[in-house]
Amino acid sequence: MSVAPHVLVVAAGRGVRAGGGVPKQFRPIAGVPLITRTLTSLLSADTKLRVVPVIHPDDQALFREAVLLLSPDLRDRVDAPVHGGATRQASVRAGLEAIAAGHDRPDVVLIHDGARPFVSSALVGRAVEAARRHGAAVPGFAVTDTVKRIDIEGWIGETLDRNRLRVVQTPQAFGFDLILDAHRRAARDAGGDLTDDAAVAEAAGHRVHIFEGEADNVKITTPLDFVQAETKLTAMLPDVRIGQGYDVHAFVEGDHVWLGGVRIDHDRKLSGHSDADVVLHALTDALLGAIGDGDIGVHFPPSQEQWRGASSDRFLEDAAGRVRRRGGVIAHLDATIVCEAPKIGPHREAMRARVAAIAGITVDRVGIKATTSELLGFVGRRDGMAAWGLATVRLPFDAA
Ligand code: MG
Repeated sequence: MSVAPHVLVVAAGRGVRAGGGVPKQFRPIAGVPLITRTLTSLLSADTKLRVVPVIHPDDQALFREAVLLLSPDLRDRVDAPVHGGATRQASVRAGLEAIAAGHDRPDVVLIHDGARPFVSSALVGRAVEAARRHGAAVPGFAVTDTVKRIDIEGWIGETLDRNRLRVVQTPQAFGFDLILDAHRRAARDAGGDLTDDAAVAEAAGHRVHIFEGEADNVKITTPLDFVQAETKLTAMLPDVRIGQGYDVHAFVEGDHVWLGGVRIDHDRKLSGHSDADVVLHALTDALLGAIGDGDIGVHFPPSQEQWRGASSDRFLEDAAGRVRRRGGVIAHLDATIVCEAPKIGPHREAMRARVAAIAGITVDRVGIKATTSELLGFVGRRDGMAAWGLATVRLPFDAA
């Protein structure tokens, strides 16, 4: 049986000129890191594709977080990251050598920039097909501007015939053995820093075919690119939904409560089938409400023994996964906790961080607030506590 195509995703660069204080591939676009968006596009394009990421050793933690934002069904096809080298060429070679050493050899490997999140399914399909047919192929599109070659003093030396010019992008597509061999030769003979893999194949004497690229498949580089990408993504997710959730649990004898995924010492505990985390339950229902997908009791029935004492993390994680599988994003989660005690303020930041991690969003999108009920009602009598949850999600209009 043939081995499914692999994609090397090159994300080892240190470029911070796009701003945000982290390498650009980890900077969020509309709440999700650029690299996560690129991985999602590739993995959704072809359900057999395996991804081999190449990253800088310093970015291990950032990469782990970015992968956790993928839905579990996609995450399974992302290999442990390979550490890149000093140049792009060295990074690609490291990735190819890792595949050669640790995998059944695929017939085809695609090599894609981590900073091109808009790669389409059709383009991935054309790339795989072109590699099978031609051995070495890259996507390109016609130049609409006139291009000049200049001399070293900056004067025009020549006007090029734009009919014979192509702008090339990625995914570049190759027979695996062909490009591995070409990279080994380039490292040995040419050394240097060839800026794309077509050049590596050319240097090894291969003819490289050009197939149809996509103008949309831009490489995100500058701060303006980020702004434009956000605008585009927002336009792709125009269906804004707000969901609400509410939960109550009674106090019983105990010594701690779970709230917002955080354990808090207290002179009582909350009674419930699971860990009785009212905050996570209210937020789970808010998310499910926003996408019209039942409620927590439908998906995790208290009648089922397996949820006894369960950590409520998995309820919220499941609801967040349902949003993602609809092609949507969570724009915000907000909870109000109603209790006389314990004090919430000292734990607020820990809860925000925990909720953000479970839901797979950045912490600036999570609000946690608390109020007492002025000693009135069941909350005032300290019989129990309540939480309200609110969620905003954005979905594509075609979400079924
Ligand atoms: Mg509950």
